[in-house]
Amino acid sequence: EQTEWGRPTRAVIDLEAIRTNVRNTKDRIGPETELIAVVKADGYGHGAVRVAEAALGAGASMLAVATPEEAVELREAGLEADILLLGAAPLPFVEVAAAHHITVTADSARWMRSAALRSKNLDVPLKVHLKLDTGMGRIGMRTEEELLGAWEAARAADIVIDGAFTHFAKADDEDCGVQRLQEDRFRELIGTLPEKPRLVHASNSAATYLHPGSRFDAVRLGISMYGIPASDHAARNMPFTLQPALTLESRLVHVKKIRKGDTVSYGATYEAADDEWIGTLPIGYADGLLRGLGGQDVLVGGSRVPIVGRICMDQCMIRLPGEMEPGEPVVLIGRQGDEEVTADEWARRLGTIPYEVVVTLSKRIPRVYR
Ligand code: PLP
Repeated sequence: EQTEWGRPTRAVIDLEAIRTNVRNTKDRIGPETELIAVVKADGYGHGAVRVAEAALGAGASMLAVATPEEAVELREAGLEADILLLGAAPLPFVEVAAAHHITVTADSARWMRSAALRSKNLDVPLKVHLKLDTGMGRIGMRTEEELLGAWEAARAADIVIDGAFTHFAKADDEDCGVQRLQEDRFRELIGTLPEKPRLVHASNSAATYLHPGSRFDAVRLGISMYGIPASDHAARNMPFTLQPALTLESRLVHVKKIRKGDTVSYGATYEAADDEWIGTLPIGYADGLLRGLGGQDVLVGGSRVPIVGRICMDQCMIRLPGEMEPGEPVVLIGRQGDEEVTADEWARRLGTIPYEVVVTLSKRIPRVYR
């Protein structure tokens, strides 16, 4: 929520962009393949509930999150779609999951045996997806023996095995060796199950577009649903144009002319090479505009200008193309006129990936939807 009296910094989320990315993906994967909308980390910083509603409206059939809290938040917001908790489920969550119809990940036979003990007296049976570790080395069962141990423990306790999945480590790369090994291993392990579970899934965004052979019954779409390519290689090979959903914008709150040789911000690291117009923006590193983004361009009056001097906790300064009024709109991520700054451009400057950029935008920035 943004108030009239609050600071003029906000993230505008274009839900139609999310719907378009989901629809375009659905068109590529076809009616037989389900689309699981990954809305963990508050919908990659875009707002989990609103993104989930948009994705479901555009053809997603299931939601996925990383933590029990995230799953319960979606239920409490009134969403009725299937929800899969991708991360390891704490055992005390078993009862809560069953009561809220939340599907949890069974990542080891040991977990399944403990969950079986807890699920004896449940009114509603617990639903699980088996997690197979085919090379990611994070969570999941790695051998046929472990998988069968988990299967038997579930069967003995009436736990419903609704699905089985794995996660790829290198789906976004030009080098497909690891991907092939993982796909083969996944097929082999799935083949050892006494029955094929209803929903077998493996692909993240990159695999969805780059490795059509690994789509199985469903894909788990995260970053690309938000309009951000998973990697350069993925960007070069997209079958359609992704529409970025997030625009980060603010307004000048203070404008001044400084003289040649004057300095700006902590450490006095920026020194004006000439007389310059400087604008101050009410956004800083506490908002996710990390200090490493010093020098990054923003868009004002349709042109690119740099952030100058060190970024402060709540504010930063930019060099203006000329005199401007306080209130002038500034775009930090997104489009203004013919110019665009992407989350990927920030990521390059920070030496990271755009995933980290969007999830780092803090709660202090109101998300508004259009
Ligand atoms: N599935 C799992 C298990 C994940 O951890 C993630 C995200 O990291 C995804 C799917 C979605 O991946 P992406 O955002 O690359 O589409």
